[in-house]
Amino acid sequence: MSADTPPPSAAPALGPSPLAQGDAQISVAEARARIAASLQPIHGEEPVLLAQALGRVLAQDVISPIDVPAHDNSAMDGYALRGADLRTDGPTVLRAAGSVMAGDAHPVTAGPGGCVRIMTGAVMPAGLDTVVPLELCRVQGDEVHIEPGVIRPGENRRLAGEDLARGKPALRRGRVLRPADLGLAASLGLTTLPVVRRLRVALFSTGNELRDAGQPLDPGCIYDSNRHSLAAALTRMGAEVVDLGLVPDDPDALRATLATALHDADAVVTSGGVSMGDADHTRDLLTHMGEVAFWKVAMRPGRPFAFGPLRRPADGPRGTAPAWLFALPGNPVAALVTFHVFAQEALWTLAGATQPPMPPRLQARSAAPIRKRPGRTEFQRAIAEPAADGSGWQVRLTGSQGAGILRSMSEANALAVLGHDQGSVAAGDPVEVWLFDGLV
Ligand code: AMP
Ligand code: MG
Repeated sequence: MSADTPPPSAAPALGPSPLAQGDAQISVAEARARIAASLQPIHGEEPVLLAQALGRVLAQDVISPIDVPAHDNSAMDGYALRGADLRTDGPTVLRAAGSVMAGDAHPVTAGPGGCVRIMTGAVMPAGLDTVVPLELCRVQGDEVHIEPGVIRPGENRRLAGEDLARGKPALRRGRVLRPADLGLAASLGLTTLPVVRRLRVALFSTGNELRDAGQPLDPGCIYDSNRHSLAAALTRMGAEVVDLGLVPDDPDALRATLATALHDADAVVTSGGVSMGDADHTRDLLTHMGEVAFWKVAMRPGRPFAFGPLRRPADGPRGTAPAWLFALPGNPVAALVTFHVFAQEALWTLAGATQPPMPPRLQARSAAPIRKRPGRTEFQRAIAEPAADGSGWQVRLTGSQGAGILRSMSEANALAVLGHDQGSVAAGDPVEVWLFDGLV
């Protein structure tokens, strides 16, 4: 069995699922919950060098093979001594018996009444348990004077294993690796880490009116922007993007493109062609290829949205594991907003992440009134920034909020999220803000 093949016991059935069909409108929270409940993470892992591991998903727990640090050592430049020698009724005077640098394997030590000059990171000499920093010592010849009360026994000594203990998990599987994690792996002496293989995501845009940048713009046509913004968003999260180009509004073309995608993609992201105005054969085709649910989500922008597992021929490299379809609306802002709200976290889950690295959400005061009606979630493009008077974060909307106006997204650094039940917002009211950075 290749590393990519799921074990037979994990072969997912496309049986009963939380993907209810029907045209009833559902809330954003409900749609997100249904998606989360139906996903199955991909299988397959590979070792990568630490230098290539940033942003990858750790496939197995990393158990520390050593104690870090390996020895008790000094946390300061100073003098190592016996805590029991410290006097409380007057200055302690000790005799310096030598010095020890970081990296010295067998440091000199000192008997009772003695001390050793020691540098940060140097191994603690045998029998000594305390380090008094240089600036708290008065040195006269080989005598070291320490005033009472400036140091307590045991201070400034790092204990062996206090960072990581041998045999204990240092990093947990499912973690999306960050710079400190790679440093930590290196501190264990590791040169590679086992990571989940990259998520392979097929991407295409649908619509007769779409042209590729570089092609002539025929009358009535527009350039495809979604494939570029979505490919970038996928690349940023470390996915391997399979660009399947532009697909006309034609069921045969759609079927053929999906067949290509289903060969080995783990997920399929499309934009356009899922709104009510689109021909029923698109819906028919998708619902017959798997368990695709078409949802009218109570949100703005981005109402029409389809999601579900697609079946694939069992003899391909992915076995019977489904390919997960995220069919996003065509309007450029709606495509990116629905990608973020529904697809991004789900794709991280498919990629094996146990805590998807989503950017921070915070509360900010609205700089101006915002009109909103209860009963749907609104995602307004906004600029969030620290208020000039230092009183926390403030948020203002970026110009026209039409779902096709990509400039509003480009100028924004955040989404102002107005909750399902929320009504209009007055200036100064708190508003939830989802920061973009690392997002779309
Ligand atoms: P649809 O969801 O197919 O009904 O498309 C809704 C709107 O978004 C229409 O005005 C389309 O022309 C536009 N649109 C669809 N796909 C794209 C795309 N890939 N790039 C830019 N605009 C698009
Ligand atoms: Mg269309």
